Amino acid sequence: MNEERPYVSVVVPLYNEEDNVEDLHRELTAALARLERPYEILLVDDGSKDRTLERVSALAQRDPRVRVLRLRRNFGQTAAFSAGFDHARGEIIVTTDGDLQNDPADIPMLVGKLGEGYDLVCGWRRKRQDTFSRRLPSMIANRLISAATGVRLHDYGCSLKAMTAEVAKGLRLYGEMHRFIPAVASWMGVSLAEVVVNHRPRTRGTSKYGIDRTLRVLLDLFTVKFLLAYGTRPAHLFGFMGLSSFGTGFAILAYLSFIRLFMDQAIGGRPLLLLGVLLLLTGVILICVGLLAELLARTYHESQGKPIYVLKGSGAPPR
Ligand code: UDP
Ligand code: MG
Repeated sequence: MNEERPYVSVVVPLYNEEDNVEDLHRELTAALARLERPYEILLVDDGSKDRTLERVSALAQRDPRVRVLRLRRNFGQTAAFSAGFDHARGEIIVTTDGDLQNDPADIPMLVGKLGEGYDLVCGWRRKRQDTFSRRLPSMIANRLISAATGVRLHDYGCSLKAMTAEVAKGLRLYGEMHRFIPAVASWMGVSLAEVVVNHRPRTRGTSKYGIDRTLRVLLDLFTVKFLLAYGTRPAHLFGFMGLSSFGTGFAILAYLSFIRLFMDQAIGGRPLLLLGVLLLLTGVILICVGLLAELLARTYHESQGKPIYVLKGSGAPPR
């Protein structure tokens, strides 16, 4: 066993990639040898149902720089990355897909870029080798995410990334949030770079995602935007919506009261009455939800001892 602390940890999620494992290892070791620094490769078997586990275990027997993490079931790509981050020992963590669509030969370039002083370097698959039906939604998603989060990137979907261990270990990823790593990391105040990387068609195995991913990305965007902008002050968002609704409802009802009392018009059958009542009630509810969310946010931070800030150079922030 190689006890030297690795400089780079490469984290690769694998779900039913039995036919890619050997080539992956060969290409990774060839690329990493060029770094001339100690490294480790963390192969995370995400509950594969084929012979992926068997193959990666055989690799680990042969190559002491390969470590295998085995998830008990298929938890998803985000969880696989997360497990890799938790167990990585390197100063730098590189993520890549296990289907060899990303080119391991790009890794030294990414690591070099990180060495220029960035905290996170993201790959940009400028010549993406996927069908148009996959590229189009992804193009729209990249624009939307960039505009909504203010973290402008050409390619949120690229798994090939390099980051400092401090950033990787500070990320808290849920659901399918691995696509939002740059946006989530931006909360910590990271310096970010984007580099063009090679992309290849999948030659073995099948893609694990369908077109329904588009909708899930959109929903995740709401979550990320909300947490980034209002995570520690939810009452501002709900309060703003609540006050607007309450104010409009109040104005409508005041108007209706006025014409009922001073102009003697009947208002009982007017649709506006219903709208006014609805807006007023919704407003009250939204303001209450904001206050509850505020309590939840405080409970989260205070009970876990999680600060609402991150100090620079303090090592990994508390998880
Ligand atoms: N993957 C995983 N768990 C899953 C789905 C995917 O570990 O539940 C891995 C998969 O084996 C691959 C990477 O995540 O290494 C990217 O998946 P895929 O190539 O299917 O995505 P695409 O390139 O089609 O976006
Ligand atoms: Mg792929």
